[in-house]
Amino acid sequence: MVRGRFAPSPTGSLHLGGLATALFAYASARRSQGSIVLRVEDLDGPRLVRGALAEQLDDLAWLGLRFDEGPESGQYGPYVQSQRVELYQAVVTDLAARSLVYPCDCSRKELRAGQPELAAVVAAPHLGEEGAPYAGTCRPRGARSKQGFRRPPALRLITSHEPARYVDALRGELAEDVAELVGDFILCRGDGVFAYQLAVSVDDAAMAISEVVRGSDLRSSAARQAYLIRLLGGVPPSYLHVPVLVGTDGAKLSKRDGGSSVRSYRDAGVAPQRLIGALVRAYGQPVPKDCSIEVLVAAFDPRKLPEEVVPLSKIREALVSE
Ligand code: GLU
Repeated sequence: MVRGRFAPSPTGSLHLGGLATALFAYASARRSQGSIVLRVEDLDGPRLVRGALAEQLDDLAWLGLRFDEGPESGQYGPYVQSQRVELYQAVVTDLAARSLVYPCDCSRKELRAGQPELAAVVAAPHLGEEGAPYAGTCRPRGARSKQGFRRPPALRLITSHEPARYVDALRGELAEDVAELVGDFILCRGDGVFAYQLAVSVDDAAMAISEVVRGSDLRSSAARQAYLIRLLGGVPPSYLHVPVLVGTDGAKLSKRDGGSSVRSYRDAGVAPQRLIGALVRAYGQPVPKDCSIEVLVAAFDPRKLPEEVVPLSKIREALVSE
């Protein structure tokens, strides 16, 4: 049975790019009579915005999205990552017992140019936020002393050239070399906060998620997650990466792009079915201008998704021109 998920981070309002992935994750699971899970990804403390979760959930309900499992109920709980840290700790302890983890006290300066900002380790690494592969500077080579770290060390996973195999819903079976692509990646930051890659992999495996639908800016994370899930003895879900929505400058939507939040359209009196219709039509889906969730579920065709980014202006124009 298909199990999909939508995994928002409560760092602001639900924007149209997030809504597109929510709608397609929902439609993809539902069209095969599967279930859909809502998971709250709130490990990135400083970026959390008070009240954002309640607002996002309210917007999703207004649009007619009904999740089968989530913070309110479900047998795979808790569904909020900040309540799952014991599980992440147990997994890291297990990997360490298998000699697959080592501490790393490289500073950002010492890392090769272009390494991600430390914050990007906890937040999902969106487009352009990932740097060069880790060079393996701290990888244990025999007698390295465990004493004398210059700062609280992060924990890295020892990666091998064993290909990470997973199914991409549109491209078929892929095999990627994580050691070459990113090197030994961080599981836990020096301050004890678990990395996005670890938390998402542990959760997708523990919640028996069989398909992941999310923004294409996270495409490069799939190999790491499939690799980790296999290390944990699981089978990776299939991945469908939906093109991101971009603002006028061609860059991924940010708070600077006005008119990108669901709330702004809702407040302006746009009906939910009109908003869904304009959004998913811009994503090539064959639906009427007014489109209910049910109609989308019946019509959803992942092969019709565009390959390139989708401009927000296309959706705005569709909503204004009527
Ligand atoms: N929580 C992540 C985000 O909002 C999504 C992670 C994922 O879908 O894997 O960017």
